[in-house]
Amino acid sequence: MSCQADLPWIEHSCRTCAEPLPAATPNAVNCAVCQRRPPPLISAVAPLEYSFPIDAAIKALKFKRKLFYAPALSEILCTSSNSLPDDIDAILPVPLHWRRKAWRGFNQATELGKPLARHLGLPLLKGVYRQHATPFQSGLAASERLRNLRQAFTTSGPVAHKHVLIVDDVVTTGATTRQLAIVLLANGAEKVSALAVARASFRTV
Ligand SMILES: [Zn+2]
Repeated sequence: MSCQADLPWIEHSCRTCAEPLPAATPNAVNCAVCQRRPPPLISAVAPLEYSFPIDAAIKALKFKRKLFYAPALSEILCTSSNSLPDDIDAILPVPLHWRRKAWRGFNQATELGKPLARHLGLPLLKGVYRQHATPFQSGLAASERLRNLRQAFTTSGPVAHKHVLIVDDVVTTGATTRQLAIVLLANGAEKVSALAVARASFRTV
């Protein structure tokens, strides 16, 4: 991977969905979409644009099993976690359906989330599952993604942590994070935040 300074860092972003914002937007202001319909998240951070070379690294990790990309990507998460609230008490890598995980051999979100959990000294939240093997989301319209995700997640019991941090490789529409957050809040969590390596802007992609 390139030197960190060459990466496509997002300078200004919405506090609750991580969508890039124009430089003129004052700090701590949410995007128009979140202002109209606040997401079930306290905070969302995704420091990089989903463009070269980050998109290539994430695709190689996911689809070509290049696990050696995981530590570098996880290091980006560790650095970016500084801008998250400090009361987070558990980490939840976005669960993969067991069939998809068996096919891939690993869950990329877990590979990224484990070093972050160690770095923050926090436990990984267990007992959250993906119920359906949703079709690959890439290439689907936002409405189709949302339909696929309805009731996609379930828990095996109450969530014992108060502020859960959802970790993923890339956030596109934010629909996965939203659905997962709704399930966590319905099962006992009081707050949910999200952290991903990259944000693909759904207004331009
Ligand atoms: Zn937003």
